[in-house]
Amino acid sequence: MADIMFYCVKCRAKRSGKNIQKVTMKNGKPARKATCEKCGTTMFRIGA
Ligand SMILES: [Zn+2]
Repeated sequence: MADIMFYCVKCRAKRSGKNIQKVTMKNGKPARKATCEKCGTTMFRIGA
């Protein structure tokens, strides 16, 4: 789970992210949420 990569729109770079959370979108699909360790922006990724 540690090697899931997120894209940070602020850094414009791929980050592994911290505080990764499993979330469910409004349409019922799974997604993951994480915080960029550099700038603190919330990153979002669709898929389990
Ligand atoms: Zn960032």
